[in-house]
Amino acid sequence: MTNPLFDLSGRTALVTGSSRGLGRAMAEGLAAAGARILVNGTDPGRVDTAVKEMRQAGYEAEAAPFDVTAEDAVARAFAGFDAAGIAVDILVNNAGIQFRKPMVELATADWQRVIDTNLTSAFVIGREAAKRMIARGHGKIVNIGSLTSALARATVAPYTVAKGGIKMLTQAMAAEWAEHGIQANAIGPGYMLTDMNQALIENPAFDAWVKGRTPAKRWGKPQELIGAAVFLAAPASDYVNGQIIYVDGGMLAVL
Ligand code: NDP
Repeated sequence: MTNPLFDLSGRTALVTGSSRGLGRAMAEGLAAAGARILVNGTDPGRVDTAVKEMRQAGYEAEAAPFDVTAEDAVARAFAGFDAAGIAVDILVNNAGIQFRKPMVELATADWQRVIDTNLTSAFVIGREAAKRMIARGHGKIVNIGSLTSALARATVAPYTVAKGGIKMLTQAMAAEWAEHGIQANAIGPGYMLTDMNQALIENPAFDAWVKGRTPAKRWGKPQELIGAAVFLAAPASDYVNGQIIYVDGGMLAVL
């Protein structure tokens, strides 16, 4: 029997960027705890494949493809949920991109794209979700930060600024919405094995750096975020608000 503190039965979770990578792993973890998942990504085909595979695994999943940077698409998606009687009880703001370039070579448009995708989307989608959560008197928001929520790294300035912003957005959400029964928290993953890092994983020098600097001496697996995601989506975290949990193999403990 599932411990009621971690039981997500009857809950619906919108996980942005859950067609693959960390979002997909967290979506499957939330589904295994009982939640119905709204699967998101920009590519409808990839979203449909993820939904199909999740259903085959026995999970409840629906397709919700939209671009998190397109405010009109976000508004349409929430209007569609309302019309279908779907209440988003749990929002995981996970969709994100990374773009590596030294700041002196960085175009303003690339800076803006990274900020829009990794930070502004979390505000826009969080606002739409929270309006409805406030009306219902409960809700869970989990924003995905990064090690760069805590410290800067070279060649990823807009990403660092966006993820630092995610930490403070999470605190702002908690400050405004805690009294309405909403808990907003964040997860800061370390270096994880996903498509986003494929070039780095295949770069022997970078691979050696990650393994050398991480106390766990290895990259993280996407499934290793599930514990934090389920905790922050479940009744177990009902008095936890505005926090960021780093899931990084101990990296921040030593850097
Ligand atoms: P991946 O590149 O593997 O997956 C990204 C996911 O986000 C895909 O499902 C993609 O779907 C979706 N996505 C990207 N842009 C948009 C958009 N505009 N609208 C909707 N969906 C979008 O990334 P990861 O799984 O590695 O990263 C997930 C999150 O975790 C990001 O926020 C990232 O910054 C963060 N993170 C990752 C770390 C890592 O080591 N991997 C470390 C720390 C944080 P599609 O391509 O079909 O649109």
